[in-house]
Amino acid sequence: MYKIAFFCIPAHGHTNPTLAVVRELTRRGCEVRYYSYLAFREKIEESGAVFISCDEYGKTTVNSDNQAQVAFDLACSIHILTDTALALDEMICRTLKEFQPDCIVADSMAVWGKFAAYKLGIPFVSSTTTFAFNRFSARIMKPSLHQMLSTLKSLPGVHRDLKRLKKQGYPVKNFLSILQNEEGTPTIVYTSKEFQPCSDTFSDKYAFVGPSVCLPSPISKTPGKKLVYISMGTVNNRLPHFYQNCLAAFSDEKYAVILSVGNEVDISSLGTIPPNCTVEHQVNQLAILQQADVFLSHCGMNSVSESLYCGVPLVLFPQTQEQSGVANRVLELGAGLLLKEGQPESIRKAVEAVLSDPHLYQKAAEISESFHRAGGAYAAAEHILQQIKQKTIS
Ligand code: UDP
Repeated sequence: MYKIAFFCIPAHGHTNPTLAVVRELTRRGCEVRYYSYLAFREKIEESGAVFISCDEYGKTTVNSDNQAQVAFDLACSIHILTDTALALDEMICRTLKEFQPDCIVADSMAVWGKFAAYKLGIPFVSSTTTFAFNRFSARIMKPSLHQMLSTLKSLPGVHRDLKRLKKQGYPVKNFLSILQNEEGTPTIVYTSKEFQPCSDTFSDKYAFVGPSVCLPSPISKTPGKKLVYISMGTVNNRLPHFYQNCLAAFSDEKYAVILSVGNEVDISSLGTIPPNCTVEHQVNQLAILQQADVFLSHCGMNSVSESLYCGVPLVLFPQTQEQSGVANRVLELGAGLLLKEGQPESIRKAVEAVLSDPHLYQKAAEISESFHRAGGAYAAAEHILQQIKQKTIS
């Protein structure tokens, strides 16, 4: 069977959707090596892949501290991605020459995987955990004037990084060839055609496979109480004041509340936790979403996808431009309501507005259906294997 190398940045939101794909490929007899970082080793090995550590090659990489900056600051993102690619270059090329994979699957931000594929002439598939971008769909991101000016200012630094990459044998034409793929690049997108903005403007090289999830057993629910789930994701989640406001919003015990605060918040600093509220650093989100009635989310692509996959409408509280893009799409399709400010009264009102609106549940159910139809990890594995087979024939 085939040999496949996966590459990802150290981020749960980028890694999680690939795990079910790896599981499906290894189930079919493929040998998978996964280049990632130690914090992700356990779940990668559980999915059936051989883990290859990138930790010791260069201190700089995209990580939870700089991921948000990387998403906004062009020069910073290209600089970090270039540093990481160059630090990993020798190890990746050496181990790939030894492994001889039939295909490389790399997260859209793990550009070192894409570069190695081009340098070594190995078929490449991009794994995209955000919306797919082209000039039509990019309009939903609406960059600010400030951002456009800072992009212009950063161009000289970007050119220096491009030179460094070219010197190392990477065929990068311009900065877009770092951050984006060519139109003809086989690409897996973990959403449905119905949820992806402007999906009809993408070629058939794009597989919109829907969320790639393995549903765990659901949690058991407190009888007689609606379940409100709240999470601000795994990256920009140091928001103790907002979490306190959430607890204050639901302290009258009418609802059951589960609040995931991330690893950086000291739960004891949040004050008295009402008995109807459970606060954890990290939870099994998919186990909860199968029982939740509403999800108050920061609108990370995975969280929103997982929520709608389970037919749960959202209270949308985006913190970054990318998250606003996702929130806008949910609003456009009518499966959530926007929370404009995080005060207890607004939080409560927004949650109750969702709970009392059957149209939101209807729309969430429709999107859920499109996600289930899209094929998930099975369809993603098919797309990867199809690229390999086409290459073998040609
Ligand atoms: N997640 C989880 N437990 C938590 C919080 C988050 O398992 O307590 C998972 C969630 O299911 C999703 C990912 O972490 O797969 C978060 O990704 P997303 O794109 O929503 O946001 P990010 O963390 O990248 O901002």
